Amino acid sequence: MREKFLPFSIPTIGEEEINEVVDSLRSGWITTGPKVKRFEDAFKEYVGAPHAVPLSSATAGLHLVMLALNLKPGDEVITTPMTFAATVSMIVQAGGKPVLADIEPGTLNIDVNEIRKKITPKTRALVPVHFAGQPCDMDEIFALAKEHNLTVIEDAAHAIGTEYKGARIGSLDSVSVFSFHPIKNITTGEGGMVATRNEQLAEEISLMKFHGMSREAWKRYQASGTPNYDIMMPGFKYNMMDLQAALGVHQLAKLDSFIEMRTVLANFYTEALYEVDEVLTPLEVPYPHRHAWHLYTPLIRIEELTINRDEFMNELKKLNIGSGLHFKAIHHHPFYRETLNVEPGELPHADYASDRILSLPLFPLMTLDDARDVVEAIKTVIARNRK
Ligand SMILES: *Cc1c(COP(=O)(O)O)cnc(C)c1O
Repeated sequence: MREKFLPFSIPTIGEEEINEVVDSLRSGWITTGPKVKRFEDAFKEYVGAPHAVPLSSATAGLHLVMLALNLKPGDEVITTPMTFAATVSMIVQAGGKPVLADIEPGTLNIDVNEIRKKITPKTRALVPVHFAGQPCDMDEIFALAKEHNLTVIEDAAHAIGTEYKGARIGSLDSVSVFSFHPIKNITTGEGGMVATRNEQLAEEISLMKFHGMSREAWKRYQASGTPNYDIMMPGFKYNMMDLQAALGVHQLAKLDSFIEMRTVLANFYTEALYEVDEVLTPLEVPYPHRHAWHLYTPLIRIEELTINRDEFMNELKKLNIGSGLHFKAIHHHPFYRETLNVEPGELPHADYASDRILSLPLFPLMTLDDARDVVEAIKTVIARNRK
């Protein structure tokens, strides 16, 4: 058994990040300022988006993008049940009615044919989530959106560095919301970014994110700024700090090397777990793409075992292997069970995955020996608990 506990994720923070944060602390400027601008520009360049808005989290980004839809009571927004609560909660907070469309069983991405079945005259927007860092079939989703005059909002929290048919997520003709939470592919502590080709939307979000003040209002304490300001609308406090962007600029520069290491580890898992009948490894999408490997999420076939998934995770923990849960399906949470009225059996693939999924340790500082320990522990737990 492994001697030291292997967590599910650890952020990769180097001396560059540390020195940049210290530089901000010594500079006298710690909140939104020049480093946020630097990070915004580097991010736009990396994803290939003409406009990007740095924010305090992806949840903030989803909130503002949903508000920009100007939903009327009864308006519906279709998304996936296999996502973090924020995706769905922000639809509710913006006054919309979330509607869940089932996933594809192998990739766990939203199934476009299932979206089609859920479209009604009340539908306003589609919110695909690039699950685990693998792109949804955006051509199909855009075609469906065009046919029914719907807005597309990509929840790209897992998809920094993901490519779809040669294009980076963030550069497509929609709006994408990224997260820099510590478990995501790059981190700013907490943080998020909205990227879009839509200049008007970027302007609107920029205004909403900081009290409804005009765009460059943060400069008002600098020599070049003016202390006076105008409130254009009742806004929020969703701005990113320079302390966060100090991390982000260096994290972004390392992203491609992070993804390379994640890919090596993911490929190792897939090969090593191939022979284990009780484990279903994730399938890759059939079109050209780069998987950002934010998560490695096999399904444990608990029907072959005497323990459930939670017990399986607990047994792994006893063998010093951490794991994560991404995700328990949205309609299995008490609030959404009571409010969404999902019929039993309406989302069979999400139900199946929800009870069997777990996230294996996956982060750039991990070694292949660590990954070997994970596979050994999985085999041990299965051998001890086979029916
Ligand atoms: C992490 C995550 C979010 C929320 O990101 P924050 O930056 O923590 O607000 C939203 N959607 C998905 C799919 C996520 O995994």
